[in-house]
Amino acid sequence: MIDGKAIASALCKDLKTRVDHFKARHGYAPGLAVILVGEDPASAIYVRRKGEQCRVVGMETMEHRLPVETREETVLELIQRLNGDSAVHGILVQLPLPPHIGTRTVLAAIAPSKDVDGFHVTNAGWLAIGEPTLAPCTPWGCIRLLHTLNIPLRGERALVIGRSVIVGRPMAQLLLIEDCTVTIAHRYSENLADLCREADILVVAVGIPNLVRGDWIKPGAVVIDVGINRLQSADGTNGHRIVGDVAFDEAARVASAITPVPGGVGPMTIACLLENTLRAAEIAAN
Ligand code: NAP
Repeated sequence: MIDGKAIASALCKDLKTRVDHFKARHGYAPGLAVILVGEDPASAIYVRRKGEQCRVVGMETMEHRLPVETREETVLELIQRLNGDSAVHGILVQLPLPPHIGTRTVLAAIAPSKDVDGFHVTNAGWLAIGEPTLAPCTPWGCIRLLHTLNIPLRGERALVIGRSVIVGRPMAQLLLIEDCTVTIAHRYSENLADLCREADILVVAVGIPNLVRGDWIKPGAVVIDVGINRLQSADGTNGHRIVGDVAFDEAARVASAITPVPGGVGPMTIACLLENTLRAAEIAAN
């Protein structure tokens, strides 16, 4: 089992040392501004965790919580202000935004040099030509997991299920940079099970619990489960449990390595956000 929590914690420890060096050299800390519009409980938890981790590694964090009825122009004005603020090195807009606010418009307003989520078209473009600067945190976290475990990637057959801008597409591009032979699957892909059976590296980012079964997995494959699905607990109480997109118990019997959910990719996403913020601060300082 790939212990994403432990690997992320080691990465954060290393980041703290790098942040200390940065502060000693420049006299200020890297700063991350987080914008949350509305009261979505899951988003509020993510924002709180990001702020906590920022403080753990010694970075500054500025939270901007706006009411759900905030107008798009107000969000854009805030971003413009943060773009021009030299104490802010990274800007993160927590998604999803309320429906009356255009996600693309908002993400496009963030200065590419402060786009620590890596969603701006400029950063997506750098990644597409094989020269990532600020890569999206979740797929970058997956690559960091594979590197940490010394899993060979060159020439391996990789399948990414899911083609979202946030996970699937950038994941495929990062695996291509690692010299994998990459296939991308989506809802219209046929024979998904057969595609899986050919993959040495399987990354699943769909959002359907237990989509990938154990007998779909090539013996010895490495399985990275990005999915986060909340299932009602079996006892009928209001509690819920979190599962991924892969039937974990079945898959664990066949795979050589597999990420659990929770405790796999999730912790790496936040660690990579902090790493991107430090990177943005280093680039700005130099
Ligand atoms: P998304 O935008 O909804 O994209 C889902 C992708 O899955 C789409 O490309 C869709 O294909 C594809 N898909 C849907 N049904 C399919 C099927 N039956 N067979 C094959 N492909 C199918 O979701 P996302 O933002 O990429 O997130 C995916 C999952 O990862 C979610 O569970 C999310 O919560 C989780 N996530 C986790 C983290 C983390 O830190 N661990 C971060 C981000 C997301 P089409 O393009 O054809 O519609």
